[in-house]
This record gives sequence, structure tokens and C-alpha cells, in this order.
Amino acid sequence: MNPNPYINEDLQALAETVRRFADEKIKPGFLERDKTREFDRALLREMGELGFICPEVPEAFGGLGMGCVAAGVIHEEIARADLSFSYLNLLASLNSQILYKYGKPEVVRPWLDKIREGRAICAIALTEPRGGSDAANLRLRVERDGDFYVINGEKTSISAADQADITVVFGRTGTPEDGAHGVTALLVPMDTPGLTTSRFDCHGQRSIGRGSIFFENVRVPVSHRLGDENKGFVQVMHGFDYSRSLIGLQCLAVARAALDETWEYITQRQAFGQPLSAFQGVTHPLAQYDTEVEGARLVCLQGLWLKDQGLPHSAEAGMAKWWGPKLAYDVIHQCLLCFGHGGYDRGLMEQRLRDVLGFQIGDGTAQIMKTIIARTRAGRKNVPA
Ligand SMILES: Cc1cc2nc3c(=O)[nH]c(=O)nc-3n(C[C@H](O)[C@H](O)[C@H](O)COP(=O)(O)OP(=O)(O)OC[C@H]3O[C@@H](n4cnc5c(N)ncnc54)[C@H](O)[C@@H]3O)c2cc1C
Repeated sequence: MNPNPYINEDLQALAETVRRFADEKIKPGFLERDKTREFDRALLREMGELGFICPEVPEAFGGLGMGCVAAGVIHEEIARADLSFSYLNLLASLNSQILYKYGKPEVVRPWLDKIREGRAICAIALTEPRGGSDAANLRLRVERDGDFYVINGEKTSISAADQADITVVFGRTGTPEDGAHGVTALLVPMDTPGLTTSRFDCHGQRSIGRGSIFFENVRVPVSHRLGDENKGFVQVMHGFDYSRSLIGLQCLAVARAALDETWEYITQRQAFGQPLSAFQGVTHPLAQYDTEVEGARLVCLQGLWLKDQGLPHSAEAGMAKWWGPKLAYDVIHQCLLCFGHGGYDRGLMEQRLRDVLGFQIGDGTAQIMKTIIARTRAGRKNVPA
């Protein structure tokens, strides 16, 4: 990756180390994992042992305290090799932050260690069959029964639903009229009795996969609550600003890989007695996308840098989340065309195209991100929905 004001020498060295690991260990299985629809647990552990999973977790919680920009650098390098594999980094970073901020230490600490070491995967379950954009309107039933919460209902479109070991679940403890103020977040081990899962046949990101999680009288101790009762949505949802910047970086790293390969290819491939690079019709679209990728990457890094400084970054995160995946899709599409008929075969480019498309929907669509940006600029009361 190009150095810039956010990436000092240490982070550049980190990026190079992660890239060597990703090139050697993760890239070779990129196409195969799409077919088998499984990721490699041993490789995940190796990544954990090297400190490449949620390195931003503060030392007080067993982490390395390296900051969110460092986490972003790692996300980029893993995504460059395989976007789906870097989904594991994303889930680890997003969920670890929720666990250490809002969980009871005696409950969450063992899970935090396992996630960081690559020995456990934590999913996040917000979306329901009735809709995901209007997230505060969720209906999964959570009722208090003494020292337990009892959960009933379905979450759907949950990444890694059938591969995760635990999940953060948002359910309704208040009334539907309470909206965002009647939602409680819980940490639920996936082997809890009454919990079952399904797996969808996804267009991309197939080694992670998505599916439903069904809850039938699933009981979790009250100690597994994350944040306060009825405040789960308001408190915990702030964490999504973090994942949005990371998603932008992940997708743009895939776009960068596609661009690098395409620049190389067009100097080799001949047409009309010249390399393709002799034709401005080939180079100018690539030059334009290259410019936009460099710019969009800075927006993502800015979001992470602001987070590291403890400063507001919701608008930057929203920008990263809608722009990064959309731009990456357009870039890879253009790159694929430069490869002619070869780009249309099953292979690197078409899989990248399928993989990045998922992030135009997952974690919130462009419309929802633009509403968030509009609210930070024009004020929430002036931008109702
Ligand atoms: C690859 C992938 C991974 C995912 N992983 C997870 C996960 O791990 N956990 C999880 O909880 N969910 C996950 N999801 C679900 C995802 O968060 C939802 O799909 C998303 O929030 C949109 O919700 P929806 O699909 O119900 O669309 P809807 O809410 O039904 O929206 C449909 C369309 O209408 C538009 N729309 C809706 N409301 C408005 C509005 N007010 N203004 C303008 N346009 C609007 C939307 O932008 C969208 O284009 C994932 C989805 C995908 C594709």
C-alpha cells in the first residue's frame, strides 16, 4: 500500500509483514474456499498467533493496544488476498470492541482472548426477516425470567451464522413503540439449547456465508447482557462506525489488487500491433478509478484516525461505507473488461466482483449511509429517515 500521513514507518512495516503472510498463506486458497464454502480454522489461528486479529483491543483487556489505523492496515492486506477471509478480522474487531466496552469482564474476557487468538468467531445478529435498514424496529422477543433472558424468534442474513461460536444478538425487551429505546444486546453462545442455524446460497463471500439464526426458548444468563437493559441499540450501535471504515478499506484493497494486476496486464496484451496500454480508451478509465481509489482510501483512514483520537467520525464512516464498496465494484468491473473474455471466466476478477458486492448491502446500504451523513451535517431532527 502507498505510504501517506496516516501510515507511519511502523505501520508500513506491519503492512509488509501482513502482506507476506497473506500472499503466502491466504491468497493460494482464495478460489478454492469459494467452492468449498468453508474457511480454514487453522489459518485463522495462525493469524491470531501472529497478532493480526483485533490488534486494537486495549492491553487492559489482553490485546495489543495498537489502535484502529493499525487494525485497518491489517484488514487491507488480508482483504487484498481474500475479502472473505478478512471478514473474520472485521467480525473480531467489531465484536471485541462491543464485548470489552459493554460486557461483564468475567463473562466476556475468555471470549475476547479466544477471538483475538483466532480460536473463536463471533457473529453479530441484528437483521430480521421483516427488514434490516429500519434496524431499531426489530422484534426478536427477549423476556426476563429470574436470572435469565429467554429469546424467541429469528435473525436472518447473519454472516458466519453456521460457523460462529458466539453471537451478539439484539432483541426487544421493551414494546415496539419504545423503538430504539426498548432493545437489549446479549452475548449468546451458539451451542445454547434451542438455537439452530441455516445457510444461504450466497452470490459472493461464500466461505463466510450468511444464514438465519432461530431462537426457540433460548435461555442466557442475565450476566450475558451487553450494556444496559433497553439501551443495547443506543449504546452498542455506535460500534458500527468502526466497522464501516474498515469495510471501506477492505473493499478498496480488493480494488487496488485488481488495478495493480490490470495495469500490468495491459502492458503485456497486444491488439492492433500495440500493447493495450497504448490506447487511451483503456488507460483513462483505469487512471480515473486509480485516482478515486486513492481518495476514498484516505476517507476510510481518516475515519479510523479520528476514532483513535476519540473524535466524532460517524460522517467519515458513512462515507467510507457507501463509497468504498460501490467504487470497488465499479473498479473491478472495469478491470474485468480489460481482461476481455478471460475476465469472464470463473477466476480472480469475477470472484472479487461477487465478493465486494455484498458490502453494498451488508452493514447498511448506501441510502442508509447517506442518511447518516445528512444527519451529521443537517441535524438529526431535520433528517427524520
Ligand atoms: C453480505 C451480507 C452480509 C450481511 N451480514 C449481516 C450480519 O452479519 N448481521 C446482520 O445483522 N445483518 C447482516 N446483513 C444484512 C444487512 O445488514 C441488511 O441486508 C441491510 O441492512 C439491508 O436490510 P434489508 O436487506 O432488509 O433491506 P431493506 O431494509 O428491506 O431495504 C431494501 C432497499 O430499500 C432501501 N431503503 C430502505 N429504507 C430506506 C430509506 N429510508 N431511504 C432510502 N432507501 C431505503 C435500502 O437501501 C435497500 O436498497 C448482511 C447482508 C449482506 C448482503
